[in-house]
Amino acid sequence: MGEVTALIADIQHCSLHDGPGIRTTVFVKGCPLNCVWCHNPECISPRPEVMYHADKCIGCGHCAEGCFSGARVTCGREMTLDEVMEELRRDKPYYGGSGGLTLSGGEPAIYPEFSAALLDRCAAEGIGRALETSLYAAPEVLMPLLRRCDIVMCDLKHSDPELHKKYTGAGNALILENLRLLDSLGIPIILRTPVIAGLNDDDENITAAAVIAASLKNLKYYELLPYHPLGVSKAAALGREQTIFEAPSPERFRELAEIVKSRSVPLRIAGRGTDI
Ligand code: SF4
Ligand code: SF4
Repeated sequence: MGEVTALIADIQHCSLHDGPGIRTTVFVKGCPLNCVWCHNPECISPRPEVMYHADKCIGCGHCAEGCFSGARVTCGREMTLDEVMEELRRDKPYYGGSGGLTLSGGEPAIYPEFSAALLDRCAAEGIGRALETSLYAAPEVLMPLLRRCDIVMCDLKHSDPELHKKYTGAGNALILENLRLLDSLGIPIILRTPVIAGLNDDDENITAAAVIAASLKNLKYYELLPYHPLGVSKAAALGREQTIFEAPSPERFRELAEIVKSRSVPLRIAGRGTDI
């Protein structure tokens, strides 16, 4: 039997924003959703892709021999478990009691064997385990991964099934079903909503999300993530167009925070902490 591998888009070391403590974030390449605001568009296709960053190109004409300026790069490298563990071990001295691996993407559930084995290896070596997931996967595939984690971060991108489908390419029924199953496992959950002006920042949507968040027994906190146009230049480098949206104003975020807090849901707004 061949060695278990996954296509890895990137590994970020010493990350402070992908879960508790200091973490190593492993981004797998491949996602079943296609969010119109995707901040990691290079993680959607499950195949290697060439990215061309025009601003770094010096026009040397030596593309065939390999680009030394970083303008033309291939995103996606087939990596074995041992290779990924090697990267994690480099960061282990920094993890302390709260940090560790964050397995992200893309969607880690599209590599169920690799993801389960990686989480098991981390457990065996005393490395903390967080999973960032869209929750858009068959429960029998996803649950074994969730069970192996200390904490799970997942999104509720829109509470309306039709609008969820419009903005992500799929409805939200499976995600809500998996959220309930996740909550039954007793693992701390960070539930998040990326908030985009005019798409999902209406009172109705945030109220519905707050009601769902309030119903979770194991919610650590609910987080509003202000839209950031991070994906636009990456999509351009992939030869795709991505619409530039806007984040709601600070005043609108204060109103949304009031909606959430009125349901007694612990809240964070990314980049703004709890002091809203
Ligand atoms: S779930 Fe995440 S990685 Fe997948 S398309 Fe949406 S924003 Fe991008
Ligand atoms: S090798 Fe790189 S820098 Fe040179 S022309 Fe090709 S893309 Fe541009």
